[in-house]
Amino acid sequence: MERVERIVKKWYEGLEEGKLLGRRCPECGHIEFPPHYACNECGHLDTEWCEISGKAYATCFIPQSMMQNNPGLTEEYGDFMWAIVQIEEGDILDGMNTVVLKVGEDRLEELNAKLPVPVKPCIVQRDGYKMLFWELDE
Ligand SMILES: [Zn+2]
Repeated sequence: MERVERIVKKWYEGLEEGKLLGRRCPECGHIEFPPHYACNECGHLDTEWCEISGKAYATCFIPQSMMQNNPGLTEEYGDFMWAIVQIEEGDILDGMNTVVLKVGEDRLEELNAKLPVPVKPCIVQRDGYKMLFWELDE
């Protein structure tokens, strides 16, 4: 548990500095992002810190209206969609924080027709901490 707290702390410290941190496996070179101690590719039990380039592509857009969860972003950031995002280093992000800001469902068809769509990190200040979201890189 203590190790998990440390990794979460380091992740947020990275965001404060505008850095995206992952963990590289010394055995197979796989990069875990968001960071995990163990490698999900080969099962090696230790990985080391590395910085992620931030180059990424959305491979699917999911309209907000299809999701139960609304993280309360609309008031602050306007329209957004959910997405599956693959970083240049390989890992695929698909979860609660994989949100593409500043893009509305009116662009869903257009964007899904030209996948993969380049996206870039968008680190935003929320209640006392920073969070990683994405925005279109166009
Ligand atoms: Zn590995």
